[in-house]
Amino acid sequence: MKLYFETVHSLHDKIVNKEIKAAEVAQAVVSRLEETEGKVGAYLDVESEKALNAAKKTDEKIAKGEEIGFLEGIPGAIKDNICTKGVKTTCASKILENFVPPYNATVIDKLTAANYAFLGKANMDEFAMGGSTENSAYKTTHNPWDLERVPGGSSGGSAAAVAAGSAYWALGSDTGGSIRQPASFCGVVGLKPTYGRVSRYGLVAYASSLDQIGPITRDVTDAANILNIIAGHDEMDSTSSKKAVPDFTKSLTKDVKGLKIGCPKEYFADGMDAETEKSVRGAIDALKAMGAEVVDISLPHTKYAISAYYLIAPAEAATNLQRYDGVSYGARVDGEDIVSLMTNTRTAKFGNEVKRRIMIGNYALSAGYYDAYYLKALKVRTLIKQDFEDAFKSVDIIATPTAPTPAFKIGEMADPLQMYLQDIYTVPINLAGVPGISVPCGFTAKNLPIGLQLIGKPLDEETILRVAYAYEQAHDWKDKRAGGDA
Ligand code: GLN
Repeated sequence: MKLYFETVHSLHDKIVNKEIKAAEVAQAVVSRLEETEGKVGAYLDVESEKALNAAKKTDEKIAKGEEIGFLEGIPGAIKDNICTKGVKTTCASKILENFVPPYNATVIDKLTAANYAFLGKANMDEFAMGGSTENSAYKTTHNPWDLERVPGGSSGGSAAAVAAGSAYWALGSDTGGSIRQPASFCGVVGLKPTYGRVSRYGLVAYASSLDQIGPITRDVTDAANILNIIAGHDEMDSTSSKKAVPDFTKSLTKDVKGLKIGCPKEYFADGMDAETEKSVRGAIDALKAMGAEVVDISLPHTKYAISAYYLIAPAEAATNLQRYDGVSYGARVDGEDIVSLMTNTRTAKFGNEVKRRIMIGNYALSAGYYDAYYLKALKVRTLIKQDFEDAFKSVDIIATPTAPTPAFKIGEMADPLQMYLQDIYTVPINLAGVPGISVPCGFTAKNLPIGLQLIGKPLDEETILRVAYAYEQAHDWKDKRAGGDA
């Protein structure tokens, strides 16, 4: 396999065993980036020098006989809504076009402590609002499997870079599916940890009660290793969990015999995409053949999830985005007085989807409508959470498709409502706060990847990682690479 397509763990082993130099590993991905970026457009900012320098340091350590950590010398991309000290963090928005954070997100501090090699900032939908990366104010990212199609979103740049061979791994964020759906569209692994498992400090807020950072990787082993690095309580994020963080790699190889897997009937409705259904059902059958028990379950409030999510997320977003007023924060467009300054700034610098959500959110929160919309959505959220709690009384994990269709064409989802409906299989997981992972489970006749979503109990990333690993080992999807030139 081409070097730039290898997994982090295989490269790490080769660097440690002196089969290869970290400098070669870093150079391979930098060259690949230069070759593919014009077509894929995964990055908003490329920091090749930083990546190559980090690799040089890794080689010096190896030469001195020192131990190195998992990510050392193996460059990765960071979604552009995660604050990187001294490096522009724009959230793919014009309102933050010149924002250089004076501090690191906690995940970046943790990666820095692990001597990671930073390769650049990945494109995304503006403020993580979207499912195709077409809402970026700067560029459209193309899916490496078919350049006419979207990579998914909002972490589309992160997923496309990992799929294209222009990053060995990436971080994304997931508020309603933004790690899992692009992972599914790009044929890679995407893990949304339990709400609170990873600190949100320094993640530019979209919907604070739903946002979570997680890894996008080429296989499950890499995802487990990166979660090991970024997980844990943080006193800068009071919603981060104080529960002990296990070594997520430890349970990967346990078999799946006797595990109970629930299949919610609401996620396999009539009229679903035939190729998606076939691959996902095939994956569930494969887990059954490995000794897991598969049972039909119901998550009865699923049909209300999109409505609840598209009130709660915009309501939180409208509040979070108030700070970009041209005075206290972000870009400024002058006006005759303070009101026109704020109006001019927000009119010129926010994109249409962001404006739409601010309006929906403020409407849902306004006096007279609060009870009918926002409060009701919160009640529905509780019912959705209870659906999962009930289901997890009888099953260990839940298996579903990640997305209702494979990657769609750029420009195909022009109607915002159509785009929102795409999130039906992912938003309930955020509303419930539970962990979910997407692993490749097949390809369509047009060679587009399909993702299997595995959903776990709160803070039980171990079990979904273990089932994902068992499934992955039994198939060769993990060895397929975009462009067919693995
Ligand atoms: N597609 C969903 C939205 O537009 C999810 C986005 C996300 O998870 N950040 O809100």
